Amino acid sequence: MAYDGPFTIEPKVSEFLSLDPAIFIDGDRVASEGSATLPVYDPSSGRVIADAVDATAGDVDRAVRSADAAFRDGRWRHMRPADRERILLKFADLVLEKGETFAQLETLEQGKSIAISRMFEVGASSEWMRYVAGLSTKISGRTFDTSLPGGPQHWTTYTRREAIGVVAGIAPWNFPILIALWKVMPALATGCSVVLKPSEVTPLTALLLAQTAIEAGVPAGVFNVVTGGGAVAGVALTNHPLIAKISFTGSTATGKAIGQTAISNMTRVTLELGGKNPAIVLKDADLATVIPGLMAGGFLNGGQVCAAASRVYVEAPLYDDLVGALTAAINGMTVGAGLDPAAQVNPLVSAAHQAKVLSYLDDAKAQGANIVSGAAVPEEGYFIQPTLVLEPGDNLKLTREEVFGPVLGITKVADAEEAVARANDSSLGLGASLWTRDLGSAMTLISRIEAGTVWVNSHVYIDPNMPFGGFKQSGIGRDFGIDWLDAYTELKSVCIAH
Ligand code: NDP
Repeated sequence: MAYDGPFTIEPKVSEFLSLDPAIFIDGDRVASEGSATLPVYDPSSGRVIADAVDATAGDVDRAVRSADAAFRDGRWRHMRPADRERILLKFADLVLEKGETFAQLETLEQGKSIAISRMFEVGASSEWMRYVAGLSTKISGRTFDTSLPGGPQHWTTYTRREAIGVVAGIAPWNFPILIALWKVMPALATGCSVVLKPSEVTPLTALLLAQTAIEAGVPAGVFNVVTGGGAVAGVALTNHPLIAKISFTGSTATGKAIGQTAISNMTRVTLELGGKNPAIVLKDADLATVIPGLMAGGFLNGGQVCAAASRVYVEAPLYDDLVGALTAAINGMTVGAGLDPAAQVNPLVSAAHQAKVLSYLDDAKAQGANIVSGAAVPEEGYFIQPTLVLEPGDNLKLTREEVFGPVLGITKVADAEEAVARANDSSLGLGASLWTRDLGSAMTLISRIEAGTVWVNSHVYIDPNMPFGGFKQSGIGRDFGIDWLDAYTELKSVCIAH
């Protein structure tokens, strides 16, 4: 298989695309026990660029057993934390060193702008990797006083955090490298082993990550990758009895199914799920800040961002100006393949996802919504025009469900009270933004918004040191921050009489 499009790609990327399909077990690419493969498409053309293994339950079992053996013999978890930290820092260095290969591969399989691949999938990834690597040497418990009865003896009581075991990392397709690393890195930093399953539509970079970890010095078996679909590989992985913890990022529907599996096996679980994120624009907001902020918040990565702004509630006096400016902005966007660094509108990840986003727009049209389409897009490839839906109404499907595409609904509200009520009228609660020059209004509204992250005069900014996760059906647990590794450990209390 190969890329035969109009852009020049690195020889290393071509080589990678032409490798035989493989999964990654015990430190190496290995063939599947089965023969099923899945095509990997270039979303800008719809042409196949590679084949990936569609892993069987047997493949998953092999990967988990390899991770379990590595965990049990302590080849990684019993290393000095400083050595794990050094190896993980080296892993980050190597991801940066191979940055252009990672970026081009990601753009080819996912469709996103090469600029975003370079900036986020490689640049931000390396920063997250270094942050988590540093946590390897900060794992600690607490000592505490107790009121235990008993004669003259003394008591020493403390907690220790112990690596949890084999982690199943299940990743989505919107930021395949970055989000995979949000599973793999905390697992590795804690001393756990991990089996990663990337999305079936973006399987390639996960395999390169595992190879790179080996080059950095992560022992064989500690980081394995199975590619393939959720129905077989995903289910086999999350149900495997040797899995101690599931770290999942994906849709709320899949997250609920995985949560049920986790509860029935008592497997620990973190769920980072979908969002339907409101942006509240108060009448005193500075449009010069709001417009670029909402363009980034709503259209970054084609809107395929869990925390993307998707419902804008704007106070009446600013409504016309805001709609006018956003209309001009979406019309002025340049369109093209992700490998074109100037293109701001890139294809969505797959034909199926393109069809899903279009179905929301068709439904909105059928319900009489006022749709404003931006820059025209080519017929070839999985493109969708950046779109505004004016006054979509609270019951429209695209107001209630996560669209995960370049679509912003814009609703005029009478005041902040109405904006907050409508913003909170959602089963999801991942992120929200407030746009105002009045710090007092912002501080009052922050506590009333039901979301895991509230941005003021910005949207969608995340940082390794800022906890991230959802209220309501947007998930359970938090990623990032100094307590991140807690979810990859068991807490053991120790009670010593002496
Ligand atoms: P999906 O939920 O469809 O899939 C996520 C992953 O789960 C994929 O690897 C998928 O495999 C796998 N999977 C599917 N079914 C099962 C199953 N029954 N058991 C185990 N694994 C399964 O999400 P998408 O890939 O479509 O990603 C987009 C979603 O991710 C959006 O809802 C978005 O909001 C959310 N997301 C949340 C973030 C957060 O931090 N809160 C961040 C980024 C995205 P496959 O697809 O290969 O079949």
